[in-house]
Parts: sequence; C-alpha cells; structure tokens
Amino acid sequence: MITASPDIAQQDDIQAIFAAQRRHAPQMALTTAAERIERIQRIHRWIQDHEDDLVKAMYADFRKPASEVLLGDLGALYYEIKHTSKHLKSWMKPKRVSTPLPLMGTRGYVHHEPKGNVLIISPWNYPFGLAIKPLITAIATGNVVMLKPSEMTPHVSKAIKGMIKELFPVEEVAVFEGDSHMATQLLELPFNHIFFTGSPAVGKIVMAAAANHLASVTLELGGKSPVIVDETANIKTAAEQIAWGKYFNNGQTCIAPDYLLVHESIKEPFMQAFRESVQKMYGPDAQTIEQSDNYCRIVNNRHFKRVQSLSDDAVQKGATVTLGGQMNDAENFIAPTVVDGVSDDMAIMQEEIFGPVLPVVSYRDRDEALRAINSREKPLALYIQSKSRQNIDYIMARTTAGDTVINDLMWQFGHMEIPFGGVNNSGIGKANGYFGFQELSNMRGVIRRDFGTSRFIYPPYTDKIQKLISFLVKKL
Ligand code: NAD
Repeated sequence: MITASPDIAQQDDIQAIFAAQRRHAPQMALTTAAERIERIQRIHRWIQDHEDDLVKAMYADFRKPASEVLLGDLGALYYEIKHTSKHLKSWMKPKRVSTPLPLMGTRGYVHHEPKGNVLIISPWNYPFGLAIKPLITAIATGNVVMLKPSEMTPHVSKAIKGMIKELFPVEEVAVFEGDSHMATQLLELPFNHIFFTGSPAVGKIVMAAAANHLASVTLELGGKSPVIVDETANIKTAAEQIAWGKYFNNGQTCIAPDYLLVHESIKEPFMQAFRESVQKMYGPDAQTIEQSDNYCRIVNNRHFKRVQSLSDDAVQKGATVTLGGQMNDAENFIAPTVVDGVSDDMAIMQEEIFGPVLPVVSYRDRDEALRAINSREKPLALYIQSKSRQNIDYIMARTTAGDTVINDLMWQFGHMEIPFGGVNNSGIGKANGYFGFQELSNMRGVIRRDFGTSRFIYPPYTDKIQKLISFLVKKL
C-alpha cells in the first residue's frame, strides 16, 4: 500500500491534495515511458485480480450482466492498456517535421508534454471503464490526476477509490467520491485540463467552470444518435445488430442507436426480424426477460421514471408501442420496447432516451432521413445500414457525426486507431490510443537553428531585401 505524503493529513482535503499534486506534477513530467507503463500495468494487474469483485459491484449497482461488464467496461480498458503500453515509447518521442525552404538551417519538432493537473469526472453507465480509461491516458501523458466517479453507482465508485488508494500516492492520483456538490468544489480549482464524460447539460457547466482558469477540456457527451436502415440493407443482420446495440446495458450507452430511420419499403420485414432478434437474445416474453441475467436494469428509479415518461408522452401524442412496453417500477425494469409512429413534437424525439426504448421513423427518400438528422444537434454516432455505396457516400457527405459505423454498431469505442468523441453538443475532443495521448498532452512546437541566421531579411528594408522577402514569401 502506498501512503500519502506526511503533509497531507486528510485524504479528502481537496485543496491540500491539489497543492501536493501541483508540486509533484514536474516530477511526473520527467517520468520515462517505462515508468509510466509500470504504473499502467499496476492498474492492469489490479483489475485482473479483481474482475469478480467488479462484476459483483456492477450487479449490485444495476444488475449489469457479467458479459457486459467484460465487454463494455473492461474489454475496452484492457485494449487501451495493451495498445498504450505497446506504443507509448514511440508516442513520447519528439516528432520531427519537414523544414520549409526559407527556414533552411533549422529543424522542427513536436514535443508532447503533460498538461499538468488533470481532473476526470465520469458517468455511471460504464462506471469503471469510463473512469479508468481516461486515467490510463492521463498517466501515459505524465499528468497528475484527481478523479470523481459517479455517485449513482456507489459500489463501483468505492472499488475505484480502493484501487487508487492501494496503487498510487495521492500526489499522483486521488479519487473523490460524491455528487454534483463535490464536482462543483473540484471545478473551482485551477486544473490545466478537465476530461468530462456525461450529459451535454453538465458538459456546459464544466466548460463554463474551465473558462475561469482557461483550462482546456475534453467533453465526451451524448445526445441522439440515429441509425439509418436503407432499402438495400441486409435486414436480418441489421436487425440483430441494432437490437444488440439498443438493449446492451439496457440502452444506457452514449453510442447506442437512439432512434431508427428505416426505409418504408423494408419496414415491415425489418421490424419482424427485429422482434425475432430480441426474442432470440433475451427471451420470448417480458416475464422471461425480467428474470434473465442477460438483461441489465435502469440505474435508478429517477432514470426509470424519466424513460417511462418519454414513452408515455409518445403514446399520449399518438405513437404506438409495437414491442415490449412492460415496466416494473419496483425493479427499474423496462422490457425491450419499440415505439412506432413518433413525431418531432414528442419528447422521445427531442431528448436523449438512454434506455431500452427504440422510436421508429420511416422515410421515403434519403433526403427526408437527412432532414431528420440535420435538424437535430450533431450526433455522437451516426450508423448506416446499407449495401449501396452510392447511398453511403451521399449520407456521409451531407451529415456530420463524432463517429460513423457502416453495417455494424458501437465498435468505434473499442478501436484504438479510431478517434472516439463527439462534435459540439455531442462532445469536444477525442479519446482512444494516440488521439487520447494528443488530447491530454500539450503539443509544444520546437524549432532549433543549427546553422545560418535570418539576418538577411532584417531592416533596413533596402530594395534587395524587399525582393528577397517577396521571393521567400512566395516560396512558403
Ligand atoms: P451526468 O452529466 O448527469 O453526470 C456525469 C458526471 O457529472 C457525474 O460524475 C456527476 O456526479 C457529475 N455532475 C452532475 N452534475 C454536475 C454539476 N452540476 N457539475 C459538475 N459535475 C456534475 O451524466 P450521467 O447521467 O452520469 O451519464 C449519462 C450521460 O453521459 C448521457 O448523456 C450519455 O450519453 C453521456 N455519456 C457519454 C459518453 C461518451 O463517451 N461520449 C459515455 C457515457 C455517457
């Protein structure tokens, strides 16, 4: 067990720990790739040794199935750890850049240096993975970190606190459990960078707080991510993939397909295939699904009521539940649900659903689908199910999104060569592998002159010098 510095009497003394981290940051900046990898591997070993405890903690918090803990929380984390450990040495090397003609005699480099004091605030839906993944990147970049996990998943937050206490001195990494009050106190401190994962509404609060210290931010947010199924799509595969993406973790995934845009010519066979996929994955009826260990719960009753009211509002305004709809308030259980006939005046088409309810919109021509997407905020993910190269190109060129997966779903989070993140309302900045490494580094440009000088363009600006300057400017 690593103990705190003697001058830090109280583990939860935010100010003292921040000051200790600030003093310690220059030492962290000097750490080698091997030293940072050793720290990352400490986390790796701890997780491997405590996999069962983490599965139990997540089951206690919201009955998350063990396989979804492994795939959603730990899998992406293991991959990030492996990928970072493999590449960190080369990422840390200064990158040589080419020299423009007028700067002959110089060499240019990009150095990656730590930002310094980093704050990580994480959500509850992948409560371990989304707290620890940015921590891996922050350690890889040589930063010191204060981390606040979500209060909604207390068993996991406790495990995170225990892990960090065991593995790191508080000058390097410190965990603060608590709700928005704790987050507010932390946000008052002059961090150099804030890595926030959560809702767009809280993202705005975080960015405003960061502005007080001109801290840089990474905001991994959410919103309404559409999935388009066009007339050429492979119906069976698309239905299976969308059912998996929508009901994995009970729809509480930032990159879950929020709503479906399906071409009207294939709507019926698609919805039939979708129902069959749900039955195959989770069970033939709501009762069986409720008893199944393969189906997660809504995290708490406040969120249960929120999702319930989205569905109720849609039905009151004329939509129809065509699959599921069964709910158990006492258990925060909502069966895999499909709501058809939705329109833009319904809350379900305005707010991020973050639950196992899929609204269906059918379209006749692709411009209609594009209007539905482009009338909303830029999505975190846009999914396209299509065999038509022409349709795919058409949609890609006329939309924007944090990431797009074509003919599959959600793998952008677990692909370390793909930048993961949103655009504006769905996020600012990118994570995963080298993209995360750049995000948490200050990219310092360095120019070193080896010979010569620029004296020949200094004043007084004689005709000769003026000509030389105009020649050089043209050569830039
Ligand atoms: P949230 O924004 O309510 O909370 C996230 C974190 O912010 C928690 O730790 C919470 O304690 C803290 N917080 C709450 N109020 C705060 C305040 N006023 N000031 C500062 N911090 C505050 O989000 P959530 O409900 O935990 O998670 C769901 C949201 O997160 C969804 O919108 C989802 O799409 C998004 N999300 C995004 C990603 C991503 O990688 N882009 C991943 C997971 C979840």
